[in-house]
Amino acid sequence: MDEPMEKNASALMRLIPPVDDILRTKTAAEIASESGLNQITNLIRSVAEEFRNELIGNTNESADSTQMTREAVLAEIEKRLTTKWKSETRNRMQKVINTTGVIIHTNLGRAPLSPATKTAIFDTAAGYCNLEYDLATGQRGKRGKFAESLLGEVCGAEDAVIVNNCAAAAFFVLSVFGRGGDVIISRGELVEIGGDFRVPDVLEQSCAVLREVGTTNRTKIGDYEKAISENTKLILRVHPSNYKITGFTETPRLRDIAELAHRNGLIIYEDAGSGALIDLAEFGLSDEPLISRSIAEGADIVSFSGDKLMGGIQAGLIAGRKDLIGQLRKHPLYRALRPGKLTYAAIEATLASYARGTAIEEIPVLKMFAATHEQIEQRTHRMLESIRSTLDPNSRLNVEMIEGNSVIGGGAAPGVEPKTLLISLSHNGHSADELAAQLRESQPPIVARIEDDKVVIDLRTVFAEDETALLNAVAALA
Ligand SMILES: *Cc1c(COP(=O)(O)O)cnc(C)c1O
Repeated sequence: MDEPMEKNASALMRLIPPVDDILRTKTAAEIASESGLNQITNLIRSVAEEFRNELIGNTNESADSTQMTREAVLAEIEKRLTTKWKSETRNRMQKVINTTGVIIHTNLGRAPLSPATKTAIFDTAAGYCNLEYDLATGQRGKRGKFAESLLGEVCGAEDAVIVNNCAAAAFFVLSVFGRGGDVIISRGELVEIGGDFRVPDVLEQSCAVLREVGTTNRTKIGDYEKAISENTKLILRVHPSNYKITGFTETPRLRDIAELAHRNGLIIYEDAGSGALIDLAEFGLSDEPLISRSIAEGADIVSFSGDKLMGGIQAGLIAGRKDLIGQLRKHPLYRALRPGKLTYAAIEATLASYARGTAIEEIPVLKMFAATHEQIEQRTHRMLESIRSTLDPNSRLNVEMIEGNSVIGGGAAPGVEPKTLLISLSHNGHSADELAAQLRESQPPIVARIEDDKVVIDLRTVFAEDETALLNAVAALA
């Protein structure tokens, strides 16, 4: 009795058009213009195969599939191609709207760039530029010279050099100046910053011998002093960044450690991590080392990230004594760690805002710290009103304004959580996870936070120009 069914199945198979026919459809042509012929052909094969298997599985019961026309089959295949291509390209790099209130969100690319910085990347650096060319002499010039001299100036340092990120900076400095000798560090600073950056591991890779001193919560200048021997090369100070010890604690002042280092002919190096270029105490970030202060207090070298508190692009910024920076630049490792033209252009433009004294007005990360409660309140009220007036009166979406906190993020200033106002969303028919997933499907995708089973939106990290897209996406949750 199997006979007719098999016939049925093979008749159905013949309904599936050959790959070349599917390739000629409008849908396939559109996808191919993005994907290229190879990918679309593979995609068609896998969709056709999937469909074929379903038809075979369905022959005994599904009357529908036995009555499908060739046209209907083709339409179904086109639909599936579109869905599959969308899901395969879902995680392409793309713009997202950050409603999490986490200002330096490492998963979302850390600092958003200032308008001047974007212009520098597109207009200055994207084509040919004078990266390593001296326009005055017409000869080869020094790579990133202007950005590095601006960096030195803003940090109050004699000289500066830029590498790919702050982890590279720490590895570089320790490899060049700590190799084969002892590096002294307080036990309270042997931290993991996140993303597998652990201070002891970096020291090991730099072929320096770790000499821990003091205890987790208290280290005195005498502890450093006792540890100094003829093998000592460097004293390292690390800003613990995302980790804070409170209570019965003590760390010597940088000034005193620097004085001790210099008395013994040693280098004092500070890995400042986030590194503030201006005093951010008025925004509650009083524990962040101010780079110019570290230099003034005697640090020979200071390094920090370009895309944390500074608000620029990923880079490791190293400032300090001219002779030491010169040694770094001449070292063979430098060639492996130096950044590309986009980085120099971006860092130069970001630093220029600091040099002009307009950083707070121009750099998004700083603007977000500096946003006042009144400003946030006004924006949140306006957004709430717009959402309410757009929503269908029968909508099952509940929208409310509640108090909450924003987060600095990026491993900077743990415990500093500026007060903010949140728009809280809940739905009678959908869970918070479902709402958040739906928001991620908007164009551009919206990344939101879930708190107490509600989706919450913090406008502090949303750009004014993205408010309409946000409004439309929230209204579509109805
Ligand atoms: C963040 C951080 C780093 C790593 O910086 P990247 O720019 O992410 O490489 C290193 N050291 C400290 C103290 C940090 O806070």
